[in-house]
Amino acid sequence: MSDRVMVMYLGQVAEVGPADALYDEPAHPYTQALLSSMPSMDPDRRTEEAPLAGDPPNPIDPPSGCRFHPRCAYAAPVCGERAPVLLPVAPLRVARCLVHEAGSGHPLAPQLAA
Ligand code: SF4
Repeated sequence: MSDRVMVMYLGQVAEVGPADALYDEPAHPYTQALLSSMPSMDPDRRTEEAPLAGDPPNPIDPPSGCRFHPRCAYAAPVCGERAPVLLPVAPLRVARCLVHEAGSGHPLAPQLAA
C-alpha cells in the first residue's frame, strides 16, 4: 500500500523510512514495540508480554527530554534530559533516538571520534 512509512509518537515523528527496511529492522524503540504487538497466527510466535507498559502521556504536557522515555525499554538517564532530533540511521531513513546520536551520552550510542 505504501513505499514509505512514518511512525509518530505523541505528536512527533519517531522514524521515517522505506517500508521494507523499516519493517525488517525498525530503528526506533517505539517502532519496535509497535511491530512486536502485531498478532501472529503462528502459535510459536505469539507475543507473551505486552511490548509497551503504561499509558501515553498527556500531549499538552509531554515528558521532558525524549517524549517516549517513560515507556521505552532502552531509556537511560540522559533520555529524560535531552530531546533527541531526527538523524539519518541508514540510506533514506531517519529516527529520533539518542541511541543513534554519536556522543549523546546514551550508553548504547556510538562514541565520538577523538
Ligand atoms: S532517546 Fe532514549 S527514551 Fe527515547 S527512544 Fe531513544 S532510547 Fe528510548
